[in-house]
Amino acid sequence: MRDFKISVSNLRSGQSKSFNYTVPEKLWHLPEEDIEIVKPIQIDGILTHAGDFFLLKLKVQTRIRLKCTRCLEEFEKDYLLDIEEQLRHADHEDNLEELTDDEILYSTFLGQEIDIQQIVVEHLVLNLPLKRLCKIDCQGLCPICGQDRNLSHCNCEEDIVDPRLQALKQLLKEKDYS
Ligand SMILES: [Zn+2]
Ligand SMILES: [Zn+2]
Repeated sequence: MRDFKISVSNLRSGQSKSFNYTVPEKLWHLPEEDIEIVKPIQIDGILTHAGDFFLLKLKVQTRIRLKCTRCLEEFEKDYLLDIEEQLRHADHEDNLEELTDDEILYSTFLGQEIDIQQIVVEHLVLNLPLKRLCKIDCQGLCPICGQDRNLSHCNCEEDIVDPRLQALKQLLKEKDYS
């Protein structure tokens, strides 16, 4: 299995290096139910040694399959992400928490390699759409008969009449015939 780690060992202060990966769609999984990556993930990155930290910029392009929360149909959506991370070297496993310095949040890494897979997967999960609708005006399922209202209309609403209205209707009817 390939790993997706970028070495920082030969990068001197002020230097950058660019890289790119095409990750097959079946290789990485998002730990989210009902979401699947359906296109190879294209990653274009540039890593800069900025003195006391490393600046990582990634452009991520893929496509995901999701389930509409209203009608439960699956649909696909392009998923594009720009990631920018400032990383600092941690000298010990215990110091792997994020460091904050002058209100800048730094991520940390151990050893001489930055794990691109971990960073990309983390950002893909964090940026997943909260509203998962197949289309903005999805009509959803009928709560009574379960019919997908995008496909055809059921008559459930008409069938259910408020009992008070029913009484009123009856009253009007009787009045008409009186
Ligand atoms: Zn829908
Ligand atoms: Zn219905």
